Amino acid sequence: MTKLKRTALVIGAGPGGSTAAFYLAHAGVDVLFVDKETWPRDKICGGVYLSSLYPMLKDMGCFDAMYSQQACNITTMRLINRKEDYIVLDVDPFMIAPRRFTDDQIRRAAIREGADFMENYEATSLIMRKGVVKGVHGLYHNEPMDIEADVTIIANGAHSELTRQLGAFMDDPDMTMYCFRAYVDGVEGLEPGQAEEYYVPMGLNGWSPICTTWLNPHYEGKQAVLGLTITEKALRETGLSSMEFYEYWKNNTKFGQERLKNATLIDKFRGWRLPGSRKLAQSVYPGAILIGDAIAAAETAFEYGIPSAMVGGQIAAGVIAECAAKNDFSFEALNKYQPLAEEQLNPGLEFNGMFRDELLNKEEVMDDFFDWVKKHEGYPHLSFSGMAMEYMSTVLGLKIGITENLRSQ
Ligand SMILES: Cc1cc2nc3c(=O)[nH]c(=O)nc-3n(C[C@H](O)[C@H](O)[C@H](O)COP(=O)(O)OP(=O)(O)OC[C@H]3O[C@@H](n4cnc5c(N)ncnc54)[C@H](O)[C@@H]3O)c2cc1C
Repeated sequence: MTKLKRTALVIGAGPGGSTAAFYLAHAGVDVLFVDKETWPRDKICGGVYLSSLYPMLKDMGCFDAMYSQQACNITTMRLINRKEDYIVLDVDPFMIAPRRFTDDQIRRAAIREGADFMENYEATSLIMRKGVVKGVHGLYHNEPMDIEADVTIIANGAHSELTRQLGAFMDDPDMTMYCFRAYVDGVEGLEPGQAEEYYVPMGLNGWSPICTTWLNPHYEGKQAVLGLTITEKALRETGLSSMEFYEYWKNNTKFGQERLKNATLIDKFRGWRLPGSRKLAQSVYPGAILIGDAIAAAETAFEYGIPSAMVGGQIAAGVIAECAAKNDFSFEALNKYQPLAEEQLNPGLEFNGMFRDELLNKEEVMDDFFDWVKKHEGYPHLSFSGMAMEYMSTVLGLKIGITENLRSQ
């Protein structure tokens, strides 16, 4: 059997893994990152890159390519409540671009920076010695291959079997979403630069607070990314399949009928797990750091997981570079990741959890939020995050740790 030995090994070349590989290579650390797919690969996703990520993407040298190829620049968001009333708010401009292209740009940036990459390598289990992760067993083009490393970053996404092996897999029925995505053609009535999020459908059994559909303009004109997000529990309670759900929304809601009356699905409506949390779980284990969806670090109220994956990757690389310089990969040295990552990620996760629990979760509160926003001087040119934070802190009396990152969402 083939065996390799590296200083740092990254499993998964999604935004989290590729970012970690980029910054490890940048710091001069010997790093190999691997992915089970043949690249470029698609990922079921809305493709929103928040502007808080732009500085990092520029630093990695992939912003220009992503931006010039971007599908759409979004500046406003229309939120539609269950009564099909709506508000329109400004957002810090963000881009929507297909993951097949954007993830590949980030992966290429890591390779340019000096990271070694291997595709078609599927990690099947962790190599464990005396309770310490020492790399992975895996298959390269279906042939067994072990890769040993001083430290392993586990960044292989929402279905990670490696996370399960460590006992770190999280499946909170309230925070684990089932999300579907399809590209649609012939959508009517979307405003240029405006994304739409619908807290519907109404009248379905198993109504879920986070039962949303969304339409994001794509490739300007009439194409859009259509998404559907619902907790796994609620989806099961509706008894509907994803396509039945889509048909229900299309035929039984005002916006569904208007927007999709002449629309056709360009590809299949496909689903993917989106695991979120209210605060970052313990992400460091002896010999390993877990980042991104592998440790359920997504903000599920708005389906944002790319920022936490990339920020986690950058922080993990910084900590590992220090470990490499001192040749100390002990748990204590790696665990410096935990407080640094919590400081960066917890404000967003906590805000997201509160927004879900205290606003989206309560129909009457959400209606009140809509009325409150509309009465504000200057409406509709008010910022979404600013309004949500102000309402939650002044009207609902919640304590929110506000950061610049949060403000720009
Ligand atoms: C429908 C939907 C819409 C979403 N929309 C958005 C959005 O608009 N904006 C946003 O910020 N977030 C969005 N998200 C969340 C976002 O997709 C994830 O949070 C993000 O992709 C997490 O990045 P990651 O690097 O942790 O994992 P991933 O992007 O999932 O990457 C993991 C990589 O690991 C590889 N891999 C898996 N198993 C193995 C293995 N055993 N061995 C080797 N390689 C392996 C995979 O091939 C993959 O390339 C959405 C999610 C869903 C489901």
